[in-house]
Amino acid sequence: MKIKKGIVTRFHSNTLELLDLETNEKITAYLRGKFKLQKIKPIVGDYVEYSIDGVGGAKIENILPRKNMLYRPKIANVDQTILVTCLKSPKVDYLIIDKFLVQVEKNNLDCVIVLNKVDLLEQNEIDEFMKIYSPLYPVVLASAKKNIGIDEIKEYLKNKVSTFAGMSGVGKSSLLNAINPGLQLRVGEISEKLQRGKHTTTYTELLSFDFGGFVADTPGFAALEVYDFEPEKLKEFFIEFDEHSMYCGFNDCVHINEPNCGVKDAVKNGEISEIRYKNYLKIYNEVEEYNRRIRRKR
Ligand code: GDP
Ligand code: ZN
Repeated sequence: MKIKKGIVTRFHSNTLELLDLETNEKITAYLRGKFKLQKIKPIVGDYVEYSIDGVGGAKIENILPRKNMLYRPKIANVDQTILVTCLKSPKVDYLIIDKFLVQVEKNNLDCVIVLNKVDLLEQNEIDEFMKIYSPLYPVVLASAKKNIGIDEIKEYLKNKVSTFAGMSGVGKSSLLNAINPGLQLRVGEISEKLQRGKHTTTYTELLSFDFGGFVADTPGFAALEVYDFEPEKLKEFFIEFDEHSMYCGFNDCVHINEPNCGVKDAVKNGEISEIRYKNYLKIYNEVEEYNRRIRRKR
């Protein structure tokens, strides 16, 4: 019996769709035997070993260890998030972007920021954005409309499993269409799923790029304001704070009211963006409020 390797791209009722990792062949597999009895079931994004039985059916033999797992959308082994934003039409402020980045860091994901719709921006607006975010994450300047930045995004997507995240209307579907026109049909569903919003349970599917790699057909982090962590943890999600916190007087400094704070000093001397720091304070309050509300309910 030959064992082959595949990635789960779709899952509905008891049928799994796999893509063979060597041949790129689409395989339909059924869950049976031990997976019916065990708690662990494959999900979209899982790498599995499978075999073909005597009558041509594919049987899952094994789920390979998961690198990570997202819950909304439910998907395993995500390599990175492509955080798409624009600044105008619709207007997106830095607070929204930083809330997305908190979700990205909370899930320990790599992130590439795509600033789309640069055709609508003045150079000084682009410069300000770059000054804040390019020291922290790779940033691609893009326009789906003017075909700018598309090849650069492709390079990031190649041979990886990615999720697209970002507010509705920033151009996620348009970018995906420009990146891989073959996805066109499916991409309509992306916007549709987006519009149905967070109250609908939709199952996720991985779409495969012609040039190698996968993207989830459901955008990530629909519920931005789920702060299911202690406020003291938020500082870890602002990745530029860490190197300055060694100068804080207190080990558990949250960089707000404490004296002798390395992070606050870095804000003062311009090493940390004031905009980012202000957003940290705003989000910190929201996390505190969220935690208070949850406790009251219990
Ligand atoms: P999504 O909700 O994030 O998937 O956004 P869409 O891809 O549906 O795009 C929303 C709107 O923005 C559409 O009307 C697009 O034509 C428009 N759009 C997308 N990319 C660009 C761009 O680079 N420049 C401009 N000016 N408009 C864009
Ligand atoms: Zn501090």
